[in-house]
Amino acid sequence: MNPVKAFMRTRLHTKILIGLVAGVPVGLLLGPRAEHIEFLGRLFILLIRMIVVPLVFSSLFVGTASLGNIRKLGRIGAKTVLYYLCTTAIAITIGLLLGNAIQPGSGLEESTKSELLESYSTEAAQKIEIASQRPSGADAIVETLIRIVPGNPIASLAEENMLQIIFFALLFGIAITLVPGNKGQPAIDFFEAVSEGMIQLVHIVMKFAPIGVLALIAAVVGKFGVDILFSLLKYALVVVAGLVLHMVFIYSGAVRLFGKIGPLEFFRGIRPAQLIAFSTSSSNATLPVTMECAEENLGVSEEVSSFVLPLGATINMDGTALYQGVAAIFIAQVYGLSLTVGDQITIVLMATLASIGAAGVPGIGIITLTMVLQTLGLPLEGIALILGVDRILDMCRTTVNITGDASAALVVAATEGELERPSREAEGASP
Ligand code: ASP
Repeated sequence: MNPVKAFMRTRLHTKILIGLVAGVPVGLLLGPRAEHIEFLGRLFILLIRMIVVPLVFSSLFVGTASLGNIRKLGRIGAKTVLYYLCTTAIAITIGLLLGNAIQPGSGLEESTKSELLESYSTEAAQKIEIASQRPSGADAIVETLIRIVPGNPIASLAEENMLQIIFFALLFGIAITLVPGNKGQPAIDFFEAVSEGMIQLVHIVMKFAPIGVLALIAAVVGKFGVDILFSLLKYALVVVAGLVLHMVFIYSGAVRLFGKIGPLEFFRGIRPAQLIAFSTSSSNATLPVTMECAEENLGVSEEVSSFVLPLGATINMDGTALYQGVAAIFIAQVYGLSLTVGDQITIVLMATLASIGAAGVPGIGIITLTMVLQTLGLPLEGIALILGVDRILDMCRTTVNITGDASAALVVAATEGELERPSREAEGASP
């Protein structure tokens, strides 16, 4: 068969995978010139990002309004937050255990260390500057809580402030059910149509995914090359091993135990979202695809997915937290500093807090890492050591972040009787 025809006939996630794999040789071939095709990837990210705000707002509003049961909503909220906190703490613990056992920073050559510190010092200084503008310590907790309440919901929508959007959509959804008579119904019908329209838009935009993904991967490979990966191989491998362990054991266990679904079926169902997360390094941008996969492929109800997933994209970052555990240990080891058990418990607390306060955008993990380093008194310029491989690790940790969100949606839905369809239908589903 004609290869073009054969390609057109394959399923979408296979096409995305082909785009992803093809991006590597294209990037190697073009080298730094690959940045000339990066606009295709940026275009794709913008296309899915444009869906995020209307989709999250409308589906969460409709979901809350049709749930019509505040107690149930509270229960779903409590389960979600508990699941997120537990899995994040487990993730960091895995990172710390591996970091202590494998000691990724102890064998780093002195020459490599000074080379890395020198070449990434400016970039590191920029990140530290950005981080210093964020509130820290107890202030950070109070600030984060206060900032959930939007002074102006329209501004929250315009600024893509996810927590504020969630807050407003939830309250508005509850309020509309209290409007006497049937007067609130037109608003619910309107936003239901908006939400369904946005889902159709996801389908359309995803047709462009293979090209977007190819361009994004080619640009990363072309820009960073593979050399830097080798000098930090041990560190990068420890992070990736931790991420894989967390994904395979914790999520598989959780979906099997609480989600009434086999792990393979779960991973198959969310594969398109994982591929997009890997290529875009952004949980927020991946959100429409994650919601689509959770609903269509895993059978999670819209009520649950529209609440659990946008919340997860913002407050749940297991991959990022795990990476921060390894990174803190790595930096301490390279500088010959030892971390006590107390220090490591501090890492668990700080990395959990850091992941709650940060939005799911590319590279945010390294900025919040400075919060962790600062609390431990570790040298902030140490982030220069790991900046070179940060993009590639960001891709991996974002994949884990959205997998964690999807597993939460499945677990919460299953325990609430909100799994709408037998997940076997995943096979024929989209995207
Ligand atoms: N890029 C990650 C995300 O969007 C966050 C990070 O680790 O930098 O989930």
